Amino acid sequence: MPRRMDPRTSPGAVFELIHTGRADSRAAVTRILGVAPSTVSARVNHLIERGLVVEQGVVESTGGRQARLLEIRADAGYVACLQLGATHATLWISDLRGTRRSESSPTLDLGAGAAEFVKSIWRAIVDASRALGFDPAALRGILLGFPAPVDQRRGVIGAPSLVPSLQGVDIAEFFRAHTSAWVLVENDANLLAVGETALQPEIGSNVLAIKLGRRIGAGLILDGELFRGDTGAAGEIGHQRVAGTSAVGCTCGVESCLESVASGGAIIARLRSMGYDVTTTSDVVRISQTHDSTVAGILREGGERIGEVLAGMANMLNPSAIVFGGVLASCENLIAAVRATVFALALPVVSSRLTVTVGRGAADAEGRGATTLILRRVLSREVIDRELAGG
Ligand SMILES: [Zn+2]
Repeated sequence: MPRRMDPRTSPGAVFELIHTGRADSRAAVTRILGVAPSTVSARVNHLIERGLVVEQGVVESTGGRQARLLEIRADAGYVACLQLGATHATLWISDLRGTRRSESSPTLDLGAGAAEFVKSIWRAIVDASRALGFDPAALRGILLGFPAPVDQRRGVIGAPSLVPSLQGVDIAEFFRAHTSAWVLVENDANLLAVGETALQPEIGSNVLAIKLGRRIGAGLILDGELFRGDTGAAGEIGHQRVAGTSAVGCTCGVESCLESVASGGAIIARLRSMGYDVTTTSDVVRISQTHDSTVAGILREGGERIGEVLAGMANMLNPSAIVFGGVLASCENLIAAVRATVFALALPVVSSRLTVTVGRGAADAEGRGATTLILRRVLSREVIDRELAGG
């Protein structure tokens, strides 16, 4: 009977140490795993033979000795991340070290049902791959970011969804007709949360990431882990009832929900009804810089409604930081009103150490989070061990 390999010291475990940056030499792997150097050498040699790891250059080792540097082989595959927004889509292709190799804005077929929608995504991925000289067969993972709750256990998009025809659909299943790559679907605010905590670890391990775009969503990192909730709907703060009147309709069915009162879409509708020439959230940012008192008043009111909801969330979860992303995160007077309201309403024991800040990643934060999550999946110990066992 073949002996089962201990998963704690398997080649996949060694790979994971290198991938996560915890070890960059054979000596470091040996030290962390606490096994014989000969065992580590066998594992590392296996990973090198299979084209997953390269060993080159030198790195300072303990005792001043020099060791050769172990790295993930960047071209051993690649991943694709697609972010679907209310008005546009962005596609990033990255190598296995997480280096972004291309960014494009594909036109997707949103109206023709899930199969056609997925086909249009796949076509965009293949085009972007070929433009980089990659074989689509080397694609290891795809992550789709949606502005909707995503039930990870069932793999389906929940309501309220940007694309009603995709509600309740197992998107990953539709990719099976095109590729054997892993397919993950994730809520966009969750990607923001993962991206910002990767970019600025100093904000702590309990983070509320708030996406302020045409819609309002929240991603929660609790005790360092993404918290999705029972059905993937954690952080759907946009549909809480608030004071004020709706400026736009919402599919959630709650009268005067936060999104219908204070989202980018609602702010655009209010400004337009008063004769301002605004169509996009970028227009709102632009007009907010003109020091028009009517505009400032609308933004202040919107910020107060958002801040009231966030103060309640902060009291419940006691986060180390609230971090903003999305286009409207660069709207200074909106953020100032949110921040002032949070600090005015949250309990002192909650607000005393709370950081409320604009994200560092700007438009890149979600792509960064998406790449982090999909690489974590496709380069996990289990996946690598299965690949190596497959011959
Ligand atoms: Zn709503």
